[in-house]
Amino acid sequence: MGRQNHPLTKADQAHGATGKCFCCQGRSDAFWFGELYVEICRVCATEVLPALIADAILPEGSLDTLIAERELPKIEKTFWKAVASGVAHNARTEQNRLLPANDDENALRG
Ligand SMILES: [Zn+2]
Repeated sequence: MGRQNHPLTKADQAHGATGKCFCCQGRSDAFWFGELYVEICRVCATEVLPALIADAILPEGSLDTLIAERELPKIEKTFWKAVASGVAHNARTEQNRLLPANDDENALRG
């Protein structure tokens, strides 16, 4: 399983990624892949995905909101780990963008 922001690679597309949000069919902003690709846009990530998580956590027919309350710290921990991972990825990408790509050019500069 992995996660990625855009852009999709040709390999992603060859494995079924479409670039469309699974929920609204708009342009996806991120995707996860396991057996299948799950792609989502920023709006659905904030307005729809939390409801899906709640449905998955609360057993059918349960009136016990404490079940969801007990799971919330785990959700928040995973969320913040993913935010940190995403920021680290973006920082590496930005650093690579700023570094000169041509080593021969660097050698000439001494
Ligand atoms: Zn969407």
